Amino acid sequence: MTGTPRAQGRVHVAGGGPVGLFLTALLQSVPGQHVRLYERRASYSRARWVALAKYLVADSIESYRADEIDGQDVEAIFDPVELETRLAYRRAVAPDLRELLDAWTQGFVPLNTIEQSLSDLIDGRPGGSVERVVVELDADAALAMLEPDDVLVDCTGTRSLLRDRLLPGEDLTERARNTRRYRMEYALVITFLYSQPYVCNEYCKFYKNRDNTDYKFIPAVHRTYYDGDVSHVTGIIGVTREDFEAMPPVFDGALLRERFPHIAVSMDRFIDRIKEETDGEIVGNLEVTRIPLDVYGARNFTSDRWFSSGLDHPLARSPVFLLGDAAIGSPTSSRSHSVSSVHSSWPATSPTATSPSRRCSAATRRSWPGSGCACTCGRR
Ligand SMILES: Cc1cc2nc3c(=O)[nH]c(=O)nc-3n(C[C@H](O)[C@H](O)[C@H](O)COP(=O)(O)OP(=O)(O)OC[C@H]3O[C@@H](n4cnc5c(N)ncnc54)[C@H](O)[C@@H]3O)c2cc1C
Repeated sequence: MTGTPRAQGRVHVAGGGPVGLFLTALLQSVPGQHVRLYERRASYSRARWVALAKYLVADSIESYRADEIDGQDVEAIFDPVELETRLAYRRAVAPDLRELLDAWTQGFVPLNTIEQSLSDLIDGRPGGSVERVVVELDADAALAMLEPDDVLVDCTGTRSLLRDRLLPGEDLTERARNTRRYRMEYALVITFLYSQPYVCNEYCKFYKNRDNTDYKFIPAVHRTYYDGDVSHVTGIIGVTREDFEAMPPVFDGALLRERFPHIAVSMDRFIDRIKEETDGEIVGNLEVTRIPLDVYGARNFTSDRWFSSGLDHPLARSPVFLLGDAAIGSPTSSRSHSVSSVHSSWPATSPTATSPSRRCSAATRRSWPGSGCACTCGRR
């Protein structure tokens, strides 16, 4: 790919979560780039398992379109030349990094495995173009260290260091001044163990719900696992705000049946159909967690507004960008785009849904690939 070489300042990457690490690893393989990565944690300990969408490693328009969520939208929204340019960039990713991405998109992977392997990759590469600093940055200190031609990329996650500073004004420390928040819907996440192998696919999801006219139990299609003993099944049901507010944060199936029978019936119908097919039983209790499906996004993702303000301020002199959860995401059931967010230049999916329905919104659809919810999600 061609382009104007950037002036030789330093790239300061604030936040060494998956996105900051990934960006650092990408920049490290670009000759002439000097990166300083700031992370407050001394070690990686977040053990939760995440699944990365397969389209992250798509290296052709065909494989990119194979994404079951947005596949059909891709050609309608994007100019083929634009897509080709972005895909060409993907193909240029260093082989060692690409190998990691390929491995992570095979199934679930613990978040700290992603972080640790990126960290090891960065440390193990020759060249010394990356400097790492263990520090908790504050916004003023981060801006004060910028020298001419430096760039700062804020990858500090949901509680971004600089998101709300990117808008010029008097009230710079006021929260959410550059953040839009949306409540997409309310939902229950229902998890249970089942005594037989059970694999959910797109078809069963529909026919097991055929009598559920109001509340549909949307199983996590690619997230049902059998460990040789039991299957781990998870599903989601959209609920009304009234129901949501009347519920405790976490409860069990018995309470759901007793106090919210109109919702429980759809879950039980679904489970009964699993039992009819596989002749098994629920093991232990059902766990129900209520979650608001909120999303947020920065109004301004860069310091552009400062540049055009004419003000004398570090943000008016040095380019600052938001990336990853610092830019856009979901504070609660975040399925935002960890590694994918690095690729704002790679097309990634964002929940820019139109007309989400109450029980089957874009957030549901994003969170639960293959949920079959009828809405349109955009792709950057
Ligand atoms: C329960 C749950 C399940 C999820 N499941 C999935 C999934 O299956 N698939 C998926 O793609 N995504 C999933 N996500 C979302 C994914 O974890 C996030 O999108 C991803 O972690 C965002 O990466 P990030 O690097 O932008 O931010 P973060 O992971 O939040 O990293 C930010 C980093 O910045 C550091 N930092 C913050 N402030 C400072 C500071 N002031 N100074 C120095 N360092 C700082 C933090 O220590 C952290 O290391 C899930 C999220 C949750 C909560």
